[in-house]
Amino acid sequence: MTNFTYTQGEWKEGADLPEWLDNEDHSDWLSRAGFRAYTSTKFGNNSEEIKIYNNENGNFHLAEVVIADDVTHVLISDFPSLMMFIRDFGSSFSLSEIQNEQEGIRQMIDKFFRLYHGHDSHNVCSKCDPHEWQRLQEMKKNRNST
Ligand SMILES: [Zn+2]
Repeated sequence: MTNFTYTQGEWKEGADLPEWLDNEDHSDWLSRAGFRAYTSTKFGNNSEEIKIYNNENGNFHLAEVVIADDVTHVLISDFPSLMMFIRDFGSSFSLSEIQNEQEGIRQMIDKFFRLYHGHDSHNVCSKCDPHEWQRLQEMKKNRNST
Protein backbone atom coordinates (compact mmCIF):
# COMPACT_ATOMS: atom_id res chain seq x y z
CA MET A 1 0.00 0.00 0.00
CA THR A 2 1.29 3.45 -0.86
CA ASN A 3 1.03 6.19 1.74
CA PHE A 4 1.34 9.91 1.22
CA THR A 5 1.56 12.95 3.40
CA TYR A 6 -0.34 16.04 2.30
CA THR A 7 0.66 19.42 3.70
CA GLN A 8 -1.09 22.52 2.35
CA GLY A 9 -1.06 21.43 -1.27
CA GLU A 10 2.28 19.63 -1.14
CA TRP A 11 2.37 15.85 -1.69
CA LYS A 12 5.13 13.75 -0.20
CA GLU A 13 5.48 10.01 -0.67
CA GLY A 14 5.36 8.06 2.59
CA ALA A 15 3.59 8.78 5.88
CA ASP A 16 4.25 8.28 9.55
CA LEU A 17 1.68 5.49 9.91
CA PRO A 18 2.02 2.00 11.41
CA GLU A 19 2.04 -1.01 9.09
CA TRP A 20 -1.43 -2.50 8.51
CA LEU A 21 -0.88 -6.11 9.57
CA ASP A 22 -2.32 -9.10 7.73
CA ASN A 23 -5.64 -10.12 9.27
CA GLU A 24 -5.75 -6.94 11.37
CA ASP A 25 -9.20 -5.36 11.60
CA HIS A 26 -9.42 -2.01 9.87
CA SER A 27 -10.77 -0.38 13.05
CA ASP A 28 -7.97 -1.92 15.14
CA TRP A 29 -5.38 -0.54 12.74
CA LEU A 30 -7.04 2.91 12.83
CA SER A 31 -7.03 2.92 16.64
CA ARG A 32 -3.40 1.80 16.72
CA ALA A 33 -2.56 4.65 14.31
CA GLY A 34 -4.29 7.07 16.72
CA PHE A 35 -7.48 7.77 14.77
CA ARG A 36 -11.07 7.69 15.93
CA ALA A 37 -12.19 4.63 14.02
CA TYR A 38 -15.96 5.07 14.16
CA THR A 39 -16.34 8.67 13.13
CA SER A 40 -15.52 9.57 9.58
CA THR A 41 -16.65 11.93 6.87
CA LYS A 42 -17.26 10.33 3.51
CA PHE A 43 -17.23 11.62 -0.06
CA GLY A 44 -18.25 9.30 -2.88
CA ASN A 45 -19.71 5.80 -3.11
CA ASN A 46 -18.32 2.43 -2.09
CA SER A 47 -16.16 1.84 -5.16
CA GLU A 48 -14.77 5.39 -5.33
CA GLU A 49 -14.62 7.16 -2.03
CA ILE A 50 -12.64 9.31 0.33
CA LYS A 51 -13.13 8.69 4.04
CA ILE A 52 -11.63 11.16 6.46
CA TYR A 53 -10.74 10.22 10.03
CA ASN A 54 -9.59 12.59 12.75
CA ASN A 55 -6.87 11.64 15.17
CA GLU A 56 -7.58 11.59 18.88
CA ASN A 57 -6.38 15.16 19.35
CA GLY A 58 -7.98 16.48 16.18
CA ASN A 59 -4.75 18.05 14.99
CA PHE A 60 -4.12 15.80 12.00
CA HIS A 61 -6.28 13.69 9.77
CA LEU A 62 -6.27 10.60 7.64
CA ALA A 63 -7.86 10.40 4.22
CA GLU A 64 -8.52 6.89 3.05
CA VAL A 65 -8.92 6.99 -0.71
CA VAL A 66 -10.56 3.99 -2.35
CA ILE A 67 -10.52 3.65 -6.12
CA ALA A 68 -11.84 0.30 -7.36
CA ASP A 69 -10.10 -2.13 -4.97
CA ASP A 70 -7.07 -0.01 -4.20
CA VAL A 71 -6.78 1.81 -0.89
CA THR A 72 -4.36 4.69 -0.46
CA HIS A 73 -3.78 6.44 2.84
CA VAL A 74 -3.06 10.13 2.92
CA LEU A 75 -1.90 11.62 6.18
CA ILE A 76 -3.14 15.21 6.29
CA SER A 77 -0.90 17.39 8.38
CA ASP A 78 -3.22 20.07 9.74
CA PHE A 79 -6.62 21.73 9.45
CA PRO A 80 -5.74 24.09 6.56
CA SER A 81 -4.41 21.04 4.66
CA LEU A 82 -7.68 19.21 5.37
CA MET A 83 -9.70 22.11 3.95
CA MET A 84 -7.51 22.22 0.84
CA PHE A 85 -7.73 18.46 0.38
CA ILE A 86 -11.54 18.50 0.59
CA ARG A 87 -11.75 21.51 -1.73
CA ASP A 88 -9.51 19.89 -4.34
CA PHE A 89 -10.68 16.27 -4.23
CA GLY A 90 -13.92 15.95 -2.24
CA SER A 91 -16.24 17.28 -4.92
CA SER A 92 -15.10 14.96 -7.70
CA PHE A 93 -15.77 11.97 -5.46
CA SER A 94 -19.14 13.40 -4.43
CA LEU A 95 -19.96 13.82 -8.12
CA SER A 96 -19.54 10.09 -8.72
CA GLU A 97 -21.90 9.42 -5.81
CA ILE A 98 -24.48 11.80 -7.29
CA GLN A 99 -24.17 10.05 -10.67
CA ASN A 100 -24.70 6.70 -8.96
CA GLU A 101 -27.78 7.95 -7.13
CA GLN A 102 -29.22 9.43 -10.33
CA GLU A 103 -28.63 6.18 -12.21
CA GLY A 104 -30.56 4.34 -9.49
CA ILE A 105 -33.45 6.81 -9.70
CA ARG A 106 -33.50 6.60 -13.51
CA GLN A 107 -33.61 2.80 -13.42
CA MET A 108 -36.53 2.92 -10.99
CA ILE A 109 -38.42 5.41 -13.19
CA ASP A 110 -37.76 3.16 -16.22
CA LYS A 111 -39.24 0.20 -14.35
CA PHE A 112 -42.35 2.18 -13.34
CA PHE A 113 -42.77 3.43 -16.90
CA ARG A 114 -42.59 -0.09 -18.31
CA LEU A 115 -44.96 -1.42 -15.64
CA TYR A 116 -47.64 1.26 -16.03
CA HIS A 117 -47.29 2.13 -19.69
CA GLY A 118 -46.43 -1.23 -21.20
CA HIS A 119 -43.27 -0.51 -23.21
CA ASP A 120 -39.68 0.51 -22.65
CA SER A 121 -39.13 4.21 -21.84
CA HIS A 122 -36.61 4.53 -24.70
CA ASN A 123 -39.35 3.78 -27.23
CA VAL A 124 -42.31 5.99 -28.06
CA CYS A 125 -45.91 5.37 -29.01
CA SER A 126 -48.77 7.64 -30.04
CA LYS A 127 -49.85 7.97 -26.39
CA CYS A 128 -46.63 8.85 -24.51
CA ASP A 129 -44.97 11.01 -27.20
CA PRO A 130 -47.45 11.84 -29.99
CA HIS A 131 -45.17 14.38 -31.74
CA GLU A 132 -42.16 12.06 -31.93
CA TRP A 133 -44.49 9.20 -32.89
CA GLN A 134 -45.89 11.32 -35.75
CA ARG A 135 -42.38 12.26 -36.91
CA LEU A 136 -41.35 8.59 -36.96
CA GLN A 137 -44.47 7.69 -38.98
CA GLU A 138 -43.60 10.40 -41.55
CA MET A 139 -40.01 9.12 -41.76
CA LYS A 140 -41.24 5.56 -42.31
CA LYS A 141 -43.68 6.74 -45.00
CA ASN A 142 -40.93 8.69 -46.82
CA ARG A 143 -38.49 5.79 -46.61
CA ASN A 144 -41.06 3.39 -48.06
CA SER A 145 -41.99 5.73 -50.91
CA THR A 146 -38.41 6.14 -52.22
ZN1 LIG B 1 -45.91 4.86 -25.12
